[in-house]
Amino acid sequence: MSAPILPGATIGVLGSGQLGRMFTIAARRLGYRVHTFSPDQDSPTGQVADHEVTASYDDLAAVSAFARDVAAVTFEFENVPSRTVEALGAGTVVRPSGHVLHVTQHRVREKTFLVGAGIPVAPFAVVEASGDIQRGLAQVGLPAILKTASFGYDGKGQVRIAEPDAASAGWATIGWQPAVLEGVVAFACEVSVVVARSADGAMVDYGAIENSHRHHILDVSVWPARIPEATARKAVALARAACEALDVVGVLCVEMFVDAAGDVIVNELAPRPHNSGHLTIDAHVTCQFEQQLRAVCGLPLGTTTARAPAAAMANLLGDEWGRGEPDWAAALALPEVKLHLYGKLEPRPGRKMGHLTATAGTPDEAEALVREARRLLTARA
Ligand code: AMP
Repeated sequence: MSAPILPGATIGVLGSGQLGRMFTIAARRLGYRVHTFSPDQDSPTGQVADHEVTASYDDLAAVSAFARDVAAVTFEFENVPSRTVEALGAGTVVRPSGHVLHVTQHRVREKTFLVGAGIPVAPFAVVEASGDIQRGLAQVGLPAILKTASFGYDGKGQVRIAEPDAASAGWATIGWQPAVLEGVVAFACEVSVVVARSADGAMVDYGAIENSHRHHILDVSVWPARIPEATARKAVALARAACEALDVVGVLCVEMFVDAAGDVIVNELAPRPHNSGHLTIDAHVTCQFEQQLRAVCGLPLGTTTARAPAAAMANLLGDEWGRGEPDWAAALALPEVKLHLYGKLEPRPGRKMGHLTATAGTPDEAEALVREARRLLTARA
C-alpha cells in the first residue's frame, strides 16, 4: 500500500459547505493544510481553509490546477460531475473513488447496486417514459414516492403519489426527469449508521443513530438509537456490507428505515460525513470528520469510543432567525450543550445554519436537553 499522507501535507476538498468546514477544522487540528474548491466565495469551508479556489466544477483547467497543489482530494457532496472527478484523478489521489460517486449520485444505480449486494431496499421501479409510472404503481403499490434519479437531497425532487390519477401530474412536478418510483415504507423509525473504511479495508462505526425529519430535512438525531439491540446490530451489519461492497475509502453514511417488526431496509447512501453524524464531534473520541481525514490520508482509523452515554443533535435552520438573532447565551447557559455555527451570512428559511449538540446519561435526556436548548434560542420576549 502507498505511504500515508502525513500532517503538514495539503488536502483538497471539493465543495465548500458545512461538511467541508467541519472536515477542515478536523484536518487543521491535525496539522494539515486544506484547499477548498467550489463556485462560492467566503464559503463556510473557505472561511477556515488555508486557500479557497472559486471556480465552476466544469472549469477543468481550474480543477486540474487544484489537483496539482494537493496530496489528495476528498468531497463534501456526491454530485460532482464525472469529468471533474476524472480531471482530479489525473493529478492526485481521489478518495472516495469516482466509482463510489458514480453509484451514489444516481438513485437507480444506487438501488441496483444495493440489490446486487443483497441489501434490502424499498420496492422500486424505474421511470423514464410516461407509461412507466402506471406500470411502476402496479409493481410498488400505493401510496408511492416519485424521486428524481439525480441531484435530489433533503426531499428536493420528490413527490408523493396517493392515487393513480395523480401520477402524471406528479411526474410533471419533478420536470419529467428520469426518476424512481418507490413504495412508501410504513417505518417505525429512521436510523443511520456512519461507517469509516480505510484503504486496507478496516472499518469502524458508531452504531445506529435515530433520526427525525421535518419537511424532509433532518431535524433531530439521537445516539444511540432507541431500538432493540438486535435491530441495531442488523443496521450496522447492512451499513458495513454496503461500505465494503462499494469499496469506499472514506466515510459512508447509510440511511435506513426500521419497521415495527424490526426489519431494516436501506433508503439512501451518502459517501461522506452526514448531518446525522455531527453529534460524533462532541460525543465520540474520534468524530466522523477526523475519520474521513484519516481514511483519505491512509492513516489508522480512530476509536469510536463515546465520551458520554448518550447524545442528541438539533439542526438550526434559517427559520430560527425569523424574529432576529437567536439568543445564543440562553442555549449556552445549559451545561453539556455545544453550539456549532457554519459561518453562513444569510439565514434563509430551510437553510442549514448550524446545529446544537447535547450529551447526557440517556438518549431521552439528551434529546430533551437539545430540544430545550433550541427552544431557548427563540423563547425571549
Ligand atoms: P430521501 O431524500 O430519499 O432521503 O428522503 C427524505 C425523507 O423522505 C426520508 O428520510 C423519509 O423520511 C422520507 N421517505 C423517503 N422515501 C420514503 C419511502 N419509500 N417511504 C417512506 N418515507 C420515505
